[in-house]
Amino acid sequence: MTRRTTRSRAYAPDPKAPGQSCDMPGCPHEGEYRAPKSRDSLREYYWFCLEHVRAYNAAWDFYKGMSPGQIEAAVRADTHWQRPTWPLGRLGANTDERLFRDPLDILAGRTPRPERSPDRAPAELREPLDTLGLLWPVSLDEVKARYKELAKRHHPDANGGDRGAEERLKTINLAYAALRSHLIGEPSLATG
Ligand SMILES: [Zn+2]
Repeated sequence: MTRRTTRSRAYAPDPKAPGQSCDMPGCPHEGEYRAPKSRDSLREYYWFCLEHVRAYNAAWDFYKGMSPGQIEAAVRADTHWQRPTWPLGRLGANTDERLFRDPLDILAGRTPRPERSPDRAPAELREPLDTLGLLWPVSLDEVKARYKELAKRHHPDANGGDRGAEERLKTINLAYAALRSHLIGEPSLATG
């Protein structure tokens, strides 16, 4: 899957490529295309082959503003609500689980972060965390960012007035309120 066609003009090989192999673990192709490592380090790059830079960029667009942990969780959460958001089709025949997960693993592997698990959360926050697709512990900023993103995506206006979207948005609002209250130390209305 390394054929290069004129269709992919947006992905011209970078002349500054360091001549190393693709940063996707296990990929034998040359890493000729660069992609910023994260929104916090836009001047640090991964070097991918064409196929993997496309997959990475597709994920980047969708998950922008989210931390690796949130992305991971969002991938899980999305399966409840909608078809997988990852554009598996673009990966051609290689639609196996490994390719699906690798961009996330790359990020997770190189970004130190605390171990997160939904099981560590206070009992009353597990459902809200699950709703927002977040893992515990989580910061207020992460909750806000995730909420903003989900609220936008599931807003009825963005879904043709869909009733289901309205219900999801309600659930998202409640989950956000519960998490926010907890994180800023206010007594939550949802407890009891
Ligand atoms: Zn590759």
